[in-house]
Amino acid sequence: MRRAKDNRHVPKCYYRPEQTTCPRCGQVLKRCYVAGRKYVVFLTGRSLVVNLGYRCPNARCIWRSRVYTSQAARRLTVRGRSFALEVIVQVGYWRFWKRWTVGQIHEVLTQDRHLLISERAVLYLLGVFLVLLRCTYHLRLEEHTSYFRRHGLFVALDALKPEKGNHALYVVRELTFGLILQVVPLLSATHKTIEQRLLQPVKALGYRIRGVVSDDEKALVIAIAKVFASVPPHLAPSRVMQAIKGKTSHHLLMDRRKLREEFWGRHLWARGYFVCSSGNVTDEMIEEYIRNQGAEPQDDEAFKVTE
Ligand SMILES: [Zn+2]
Repeated sequence: MRRAKDNRHVPKCYYRPEQTTCPRCGQVLKRCYVAGRKYVVFLTGRSLVVNLGYRCPNARCIWRSRVYTSQAARRLTVRGRSFALEVIVQVGYWRFWKRWTVGQIHEVLTQDRHLLISERAVLYLLGVFLVLLRCTYHLRLEEHTSYFRRHGLFVALDALKPEKGNHALYVVRELTFGLILQVVPLLSATHKTIEQRLLQPVKALGYRIRGVVSDDEKALVIAIAKVFASVPPHLAPSRVMQAIKGKTSHHLLMDRRKLREEFWGRHLWARGYFVCSSGNVTDEMIEEYIRNQGAEPQDDEAFKVTE
C-alpha cells in the first residue's frame, strides 16, 4: 500500500506572474486567486509550488478577465510529473556522463538527498531526460553535419535494464560529441526489433558508420552485423564479392527448383560487380552500373587502366 505523504512540513514557494502591468491599459495587476498548487520534488526536497493568478483591476479594461500567471512556475516540471527539471537533468547527467548505474542514482537520491523515489521512477525520469534531450537532437546533429559527412560516425549501443517484466531502454549514442541518436523502450528485444527500431533509423541518417561499440548480447551482435555489414580492411573487394556470390547462389539454388533447373552447371551470377567507397556513390551511379552492365562483355584480357 502506498503511504500517504506527510505534507505538514513541506515548505511553500509562491510564484507571481512575470508580467506586472496590464498590457492593454497599463494598470498594475492585482492578485485574484491561486491559479495552481503543485507538490514538486527538487534536489533539496519536496516543496509546494503555489502559482498566484493576477488580473487587471481596471473595471473598464476589456482585458480585465485575463488571468496572468508565472511561466517560471510552469517550467519547473514536465507536464504531469512531480519531479522538477533539475532532478531530471541531474539524473540524466549522472547516468550518461558519469556512467552511474540506476541503482547508484537511486541510492544517492534516497540516502543522501532523502527523496522519496523508487528505482522504477528513476528509470522513468531517465526516459523523460532522453526525450527532452532528443528535442535538441536535430539542432545538434545539424551543427555537426559537415563533420559527420567527412568523418562518419562512431556509435555505442547501450541497454538500460531494470528488473524483469519492465521495458528496457535501448540507446544509440554517437561517440565523438556524445549525441543521442535513437532511444527506444523495448519489452523484449529480438535482433529484428533492434534492427528495425534502433539501427535502421540511425542508418537512415546517411552517414558512414565507422565503428559500433556494444555488449556481446546475441541479439545486438546479429542486428549490428545485419544493418552495418562490414568487411575487414585487409580483404580485397574481389575476394569479398566471390564469397557473397558463392553463398547467395548456393542458397538460391538450394531453395528454388526453377533456378536450379535453369542454371544447372552454370554460374548464377554474372561476372561483373560494382564496388565503390561509401560516401562517394549515389543511387544514380549504382543504377547506371546496373543498366549498363553486360552491355559489352568484359574479358580479363581486355582489362585496361585509363586516365
Ligand atoms: Zn487593463
